[in-house]
Amino acid sequence: MLLLMIISNLVLSAQNQPLLDLKYEQNYTPTYDEVIEMYQTLDAHYENARLIEKGQTDCGKPLHIFVINDTPEFDPHKIRKAGKSVLLINNGIHPGEPAGIDASLWFADDLLRDKETVQKLLQKTAIVIIPVYNIGGHLHRSAFNRANQTTPIETGFRGNAANLDLNRDFTKCDSENAKSFTRIFHEWNPDVFLDTHTTNGSDHQYSITLVGPQPDRFPPTQEKFIREKMLPSLYQKMSNGEYEMIPYVNWVHNDPKLGIQMMEEFPRYSSGFAGLFHSYGMMTENHVYKNYADRVISCNHFIWKLAEFTAENSEEIISTRKHGIAESVGAEKYPLSFELDTTQFSEMEFKGYEVDEKQVSKITGLERFGYDRNKPYITKIKYFDVYNYAETINVPEYYILPQAWDEVAERLALNNVEMYRFKTDTTLEVQVDYIEDFSSPERPYNGHYFHSKVETRSEVQKIKYFAGDFIIPVRQDKIKYIVEMLEPKAADSFFRWNFFDSILDNREYFSSYGFEENALKYLEEHPEFKNEFLEKQRIDTAFAKNHRAQLAYIYHNSEWSEKTARKYPVGKIFLSKSEMKLLPNQH
Ligand SMILES: [Zn+2]
Repeated sequence: MLLLMIISNLVLSAQNQPLLDLKYEQNYTPTYDEVIEMYQTLDAHYENARLIEKGQTDCGKPLHIFVINDTPEFDPHKIRKAGKSVLLINNGIHPGEPAGIDASLWFADDLLRDKETVQKLLQKTAIVIIPVYNIGGHLHRSAFNRANQTTPIETGFRGNAANLDLNRDFTKCDSENAKSFTRIFHEWNPDVFLDTHTTNGSDHQYSITLVGPQPDRFPPTQEKFIREKMLPSLYQKMSNGEYEMIPYVNWVHNDPKLGIQMMEEFPRYSSGFAGLFHSYGMMTENHVYKNYADRVISCNHFIWKLAEFTAENSEEIISTRKHGIAESVGAEKYPLSFELDTTQFSEMEFKGYEVDEKQVSKITGLERFGYDRNKPYITKIKYFDVYNYAETINVPEYYILPQAWDEVAERLALNNVEMYRFKTDTTLEVQVDYIEDFSSPERPYNGHYFHSKVETRSEVQKIKYFAGDFIIPVRQDKIKYIVEMLEPKAADSFFRWNFFDSILDNREYFSSYGFEENALKYLEEHPEFKNEFLEKQRIDTAFAKNHRAQLAYIYHNSEWSEKTARKYPVGKIFLSKSEMKLLPNQH
């Protein structure tokens, strides 16, 4: 009997041993093969966890997801149908910031061998982990990828196999990684999403900071939930533990003492992309100046807290999201840009180090900006976390996308946007935008000449569309994605990312001598305009001496003026649903 008890205790303790040998204490983060092997070990050992290949990446190796559930059910549709929420965790998007890779492995190992916690945590929530997202970057391993950090000893590289920063690629979706991620995202439809990072921004006493979901980018029900429940609970849960967490230290001025502001969640980033689908997206930013073990442990603690919060509030997370989608679908106005409200702030405790503008470099002997770690302080600082709408638009009922823009249509389809196609050629009165002005960098940014300072003007025109062109009803649950991608002025629109650049120059135009005959005829046929022209010639001497300017004056007043140049090809229809019924049924 005694022997039996000893044996059964031994078996129990063997079952309770971690299966994985993580070496973050020795400043070592696992290689790609080691990461996958470790998840395979967990998959083989536990029937309620599975490692699944999901799509390709740019380096030719498949992306994986690791699903943890309370039963051996791994079908996302069945899991969601059972009323469960889904927490998706993405790691290694920047492989030089691998704390989340270690932290997630450790979390999975600990969770799976604790049956009681599995029951408690996974009854209402399923957890999906992307072990390494930027596989190409993680395989590009070296001790010399991160000049601003000393640990871990070796890490991967920021660029992926195509040298793209994947945390700028979620909307333009150039990489196979982003395409696979998009499929995973819509298949699992996560309610809560975490992307793990490390930052070398300002120095302070915290190992972990959070770029939370930006409340003002969400509809009212979700904004309230984020501001009043989600963020306070997550900070509270962390401060009850070993690693206090604060918002990402994003300076208003060059000293955190002067206040910090909430990060803007642009859709090009993972968390901002999640927000386009009303998912509560966030990023942890571990602090690179803390040792690697502290980064991994604090990130692991946060994953636990986030999983707990998601499980404890599963119904409310699902219902606020559902409400939020309905609110967005019914909205009359949509914000295209935001500005920080500098009059609204909360006070928060901040544990920093004194800024020293005149620290002497041990290398150059010259003064440089730095922090004095011998001078820690605790003070109250202002936290600015309210953004106001800077520009809004009226939400159209439909966008019409000519099929010529197939790369755009492909991305809309990839994001499960409901679209229809005209069955026959159809002429419609639509609102179109002209790109009045924009500015582009001299050198490419992540493979694009991203447009900024976009100015537009609108016109109503009758436009002939062809059979096969796309009709996109705006009031569907993907409304935020549709508006953000198709409004040219939106922060990460397809227009800004160069998908429509061929509209930006003229195809016909006029020749300084070829146009003469038509121009003369035009003047003869338009006597009123001719008088105007002659008057300008008389009073404007520079104009009178400039042949090309005079022909241009006629050209731009005439029907020859090229109407397609700078005309953004996506038409907008503002008719109400009952008015739409008057249109031929093309659905
Ligand atoms: Zn990062």
